[in-house]
Amino acid sequence: MQGLHADQLRKSFPAPGGELTVLRDASLRLEPGQNTAILGPSGSGKSTLLAILGTLETPTGGTLTLDGENPFTLGEAELARFRNRRIGYVFQDHHLLPQCTVLQNVLVPYLADGGAGPEEIAHAESLIERVGLSERRLHRPAELSGGERQRVAIARALVRGPGLVLADEPTGNLDGATAEAIVSLLLEMHADLGSVLVVVTHSEDLALRMQSRRRLADGILS
Ligand code: ADP
Ligand code: MG
Repeated sequence: MQGLHADQLRKSFPAPGGELTVLRDASLRLEPGQNTAILGPSGSGKSTLLAILGTLETPTGGTLTLDGENPFTLGEAELARFRNRRIGYVFQDHHLLPQCTVLQNVLVPYLADGGAGPEEIAHAESLIERVGLSERRLHRPAELSGGERQRVAIARALVRGPGLVLADEPTGNLDGATAEAIVSLLLEMHADLGSVLVVVTHSEDLALRMQSRRRLADGILS
């Protein structure tokens, strides 16, 4: 069973006087090479759903498998390794390490898990070239524009060839033209990789560039 299979995911948080149920029923099936947009108003649970798909949060109910494997059955160390190798995450706010160069940031998924040798460094450099930042590879995030930082974040997310790429409002902080370019880059690189791509957005324009669209409202993904 290749791809992403989420079945009836639920998520509640403890809250004063009971619990807050953010997700009631979120089901999603995507094969390798497929992509989708998740739309919904602010506070509808989009980031929560993405965090569950990315194994950063545990669901209260339902099941998730990625390429046939249920990550929530793994122990903590194994889960961290699974996430590092199999999932790439692009955040609205790039989440780059400010003290590290572009190259070091792209290598982070290797450094957290065994380190990077000449082969990994060459691969990271080829991705940096692919996102158009070869000349900037030894610069730090503060020396880059917002669009350039998101290019680094995309290279970092894809460096290990993950089966699942998740992006949470990846163009939320960018102007229109830069946002367009970032979405094009993400879609091209996703197509090359043949992974599953899920993009959370409240931009209908961005959503229209994806193969399909899903909407989250009242905890239900339809
Ligand atoms: P969106 O990304 O669609 O704006 P979120 O997933 O960030 O929505 O949040 C959905 C709801 O879940 C909000 O009401 C938020 O306050 C709540 N929420 C998110 N994370 C937590 C948490 N760790 N603890 C309690 N409530 C949370
Ligand atoms: Mg959000």
